Formats: sequence, C-alpha cells, structure tokens
Amino acid sequence: MAEVASESGGEVSVSWNAAEVRAEFPQLGLKVNGVRPVYLDSAATTLKPRAVIDRLQHFYSYECANVHRGAHWLSDRATSAYEEARQKVARFLGAERDSEIVFTRGTTEGLNLIAHSFGRPFLQPGDEILLTQLEHHSNILPWQLLAQEKGLKLKVAPIHPSGELVEEEFEALLTNQTKLVSFTHVSNGLGTILPIQKMIQSAQKVGAVTVVDAAQSVSFLPLRVRDLGCDFLVFSGHKLFGPYGVGALYGRHQWLEQMPPYQSGGSMISKVSFAKSDFLPPPQRFEAGTPHIAGAIGLGAAIDFVQALGLEAIESHEQRLLTMATEELKQMGGVRLFADLDHKASILSFLMEGTHPSDVGAMLDQQAVAVRAGHHCNQPLWDFYQVPGTVRASFSLYNDEEDVERWIVALKKAKEMLL
Ligand code: PLP
Repeated sequence: MAEVASESGGEVSVSWNAAEVRAEFPQLGLKVNGVRPVYLDSAATTLKPRAVIDRLQHFYSYECANVHRGAHWLSDRATSAYEEARQKVARFLGAERDSEIVFTRGTTEGLNLIAHSFGRPFLQPGDEILLTQLEHHSNILPWQLLAQEKGLKLKVAPIHPSGELVEEEFEALLTNQTKLVSFTHVSNGLGTILPIQKMIQSAQKVGAVTVVDAAQSVSFLPLRVRDLGCDFLVFSGHKLFGPYGVGALYGRHQWLEQMPPYQSGGSMISKVSFAKSDFLPPPQRFEAGTPHIAGAIGLGAAIDFVQALGLEAIESHEQRLLTMATEELKQMGGVRLFADLDHKASILSFLMEGTHPSDVGAMLDQQAVAVRAGHHCNQPLWDFYQVPGTVRASFSLYNDEEDVERWIVALKKAKEMLL
C-alpha cells in the first residue's frame, strides 16, 4: 500500500502493485538476449495492456462492421461501440458534448486538422501565431506551412536553460496581432510541465485561440478542457496505452461548427450533387471515410485502463521512479542532465561526457535496455542547447525499481566500454 498525496493536498491511500501492473503487459514477459527487457521509451510510445489487446480482438471477432452506414445489426453494434468510445474520450477530457471529440490518426493529424480547418479560413495575413521553444516538430511544421501560405508571422516563446518557459517573455510576445497560441503541455524532450492554465488565460486576454498538445501529458495528468478553457486539445492513442493510428481532437463546439471539412469523402455529407454538396455537423464533418473503428474502441479500453489505476496513482508511481533514477544518474557522475527540475514528467534527457547519444543507445540496447537516442523530433530545442540530441529514458506505469537499477548498471557498462 503506497501513501500518495491527493490533488487537494490531503493523504489518500492508493494501492500500487507493480508486479500486478506489469503482468497486464504481455510484452514485458518476453526475454531479450536471455534477460528481462527494460523498456524506457514510453515517451515515444507506450506498451499495450491485455485489456486493450483483448478489446481489439473482440471487435474484430464479434463486432466487425462499418459504422454509421449499415442497415444491419452488426453495423449497429459497431456504431454503438464506436460512439461509446467517443463518449469515453469526451468524459475523460471533461468536454461539454460528445460531438466536441473528433477521432483522428493522432496528435500530428489533430494539429494539421486545426491548421487546415481553423487556420486557413480564420487567420489573415499579418496575424501572429505564438509557439514555444519546446515544441515537437508536429506542433511547428503545420503552423510554419500555414504561415508561408497565408503570410502569417510565427513567434517563439523562449525557455530558460533550466528547460522552463520564460513566462514574462511569453506574456510579452502576446499582442493584439496574436490570433493563435499552440503549445505542448509536457515537453517530450525534457519532461518540463508547462503552466498551461496560466498560458491559456494570458492568450485569452488578447483574444487568441489556444491549442494544447497533450501527447505527453494525457497518460498521467488530468485534463479538464472546460476548466482549462482551451479551444482545442489533441493527443495520440498510442501514448496512452492505446492502439496506433488513432487519436482524438477536442474542439470547442463554437469553432467546430463553423470550421470547413479537413478531408472529404463518405460519411461526412448530408447531400452530394455535382453542383454542390452539404456536410454533416461535427464530429462527422471531420471524419471522412471509414474511420479507425477498432482503434477508437481500443482507445476507449485504454481510457478505462488508466482510470481504473487512477491518474494520481500513476503520476505518483512515476515520480518515485523519476526521483530514484535522477539520484542514481547524478551519483554515477560524468553526466549532463537537462531540465533537472523538482516537478517534471518522468523523462530524463542527458548526455554522457565523451560519448555520442547513439553509441550509448546502442550499448544499452545490447543489454536489453530500450531508450531513445537522437533529437526526439525536437531539433529547435537542441539548437537552443547547442547539442545534436540526447539519450532519453522515460519511465511509465509498468516500470519498477529493478528497471532503474538495470538501466544504471547498463549505463555504467556503456561508459566503461565507450570511454
Ligand atoms: N507532440 C508531442 C509532445 C509528442 O511527444 C509527439 C510524439 O512524440 C507528438 C506531438 C506527435 O505524436 P504522433 O506522432 O503520435 O502524432
């Protein structure tokens, strides 16, 4: 039984049985090079629990049909499961209506959808878009392309060397010209948690629309879109223990109902003729063609999975591992650790003196320890630090103390071999 502080500051009792949690993930039962694998790349993608895998199998075995189209019982069954998944996402995010949730391919598609269907019609030449230095490429490129196409100006809020946003600069960059502000909730490169509530409120003061990239936060931080007051929020299923190729976009009803389609085709129209076509209201307007039905249903199962464990308990477990891993890494010495902050996500980005990140990654791989080495789709962030990239270890709910120890032993061995 672990004691963790509740959100309100009081003490609540949460049981966390690491062995039981690990047993939910079949992949962790594998042997790699004859040993138990250590998976520390959850910031790239999370492993999938049995509940999600079983749900996908159940769909393909017993509910497999297209949605919203068939005049038969199987299609009704698939449609109910698909719409139930939408409802789960809506409740998970605290949306006002289920129709504010659009199923996408993931965070990247969600951001492209907003750039296309909101940015193109609603932004005018000379308008400004504000981002931060911490953004993943997928929260830079859609805006950069849009800016080139429409004559918009991109501005970037800087960070401190600590990896935290320079909040005064963010505020100063917000002007009456700022029409859209898009930022990550948690940096995938550093683990920094941004003060998004404050950022949204500041953006609202100048009348800017806000977009939250929740790709990294969705698996451990509660997201309540109505309390946050953001206009859009996007995430990917595969970073929330769910399937690949599916994600969700939350969009405030007021915007979605005014936005033109992103893609067009079947399932998103009310009437088609060669002269003119009419489109369905959201969310169908933004879900052209056959959607990833199994993916959406699997995402619903992933949400049930994390809710059963509890986000607060997940965060608390990950924080324990982060503290232990940070201390061990510092004790080892010869390491440059980025964003060594008291409160951050369980992501450690670092360089080992005299070594290249890819060599360290390869040495760890030989010892069945999976980390990421490289720029992590954050090239502008590493330009700020004037390094090409880092080694990144990210800890999730299925990691335990043994993983931290194995990782440190593997790092020490890598150091010996490489120096
Ligand atoms: N934003 C952040 C912060 C991310 O970490 C990622 C993935 O690493 C993305 C966006 C892109 O997510 P996806 O590739 O699932 O669309």
